[in-house]
Amino acid sequence: MFFMKKRFLAILLAIGGCAPAQTAPKPPKSLRIYVFDCGVIKGLSPALFNFKEGEVKATEFVVPCYLIVHPKGTLMWDTGTIPDSAFKSDGAPVTQGTNAIMTVTRPLKAQLAEVGYKPSEITYLALSHYHSDHTANANDFAGSTWLVQQPERDYMFGPPQQGAIINTASFSALKNAKTKIIGPADYDVFGDGKVIIKFAPGHTPGHQVLFLKLAKFGPLLVAGDLYHYPEERASGNIPTFEYNADQSRASRAAIEAFLKQAKAQLWIEHDAATFAALKKAPAFYE
Ligand SMILES: [Zn+2]
Repeated sequence: MFFMKKRFLAILLAIGGCAPAQTAPKPPKSLRIYVFDCGVIKGLSPALFNFKEGEVKATEFVVPCYLIVHPKGTLMWDTGTIPDSAFKSDGAPVTQGTNAIMTVTRPLKAQLAEVGYKPSEITYLALSHYHSDHTANANDFAGSTWLVQQPERDYMFGPPQQGAIINTASFSALKNAKTKIIGPADYDVFGDGKVIIKFAPGHTPGHQVLFLKLAKFGPLLVAGDLYHYPEERASGNIPTFEYNADQSRASRAAIEAFLKQAKAQLWIEHDAATFAALKKAPAFYE
């Protein structure tokens, strides 16, 4: 009898008794999004985007990363342009690149920790697309479930292709990550219609954008690189390095119609003016 009791106790302890000292925050009651500063890119010529000097206002790109926290889990959206591993122990800003000069002032993991999370605690990872200014810290999230479109994954792990701004080492660990192939239909991440990933190909074969139904802020579309400059919305200019310009035009038209119908705000990720006006983590939108 005593033996049985002891065994029972051991099983109970094994089930619930060994929680780690530091755990992720309790899930919030409603959906929220945190905006992290994952760097700045200077020196890109507007000509790369089929604009002449002076036709666009912004002189640099910003690189945000986003954490979406839902009552049922978390989603990391895009992971920056320079990996945290590039920081030295003095924590000074890191600069890389020759044509495009990238600078990052704070590691992503430090910003995540500030709001209570470690990469290993994040439920889902989704990248708007595979370009290197979105994948820098992707390997840190190989323990999450990766949400990716089939053509995007095929390109990422297929034979090396020409002319791509791609850093395969930055996402190599995703190859064996738990993966959920999504799309081309809208993908409802938590099953309640509040976090939707939409297929918007063209910039890359499986480029995607993120729609959120935030209770206070209202509907929001985080646009990945559907656009880079706000001026592209009126002019229709397509970047010179687009995977498929016709697909991009079709995706833009579909998303513009969706924005109208959903009455959603649009955040162009690289747009410095949009980013400057946003609350940054640890503040959040809900
Ligand atoms: Zn980009």
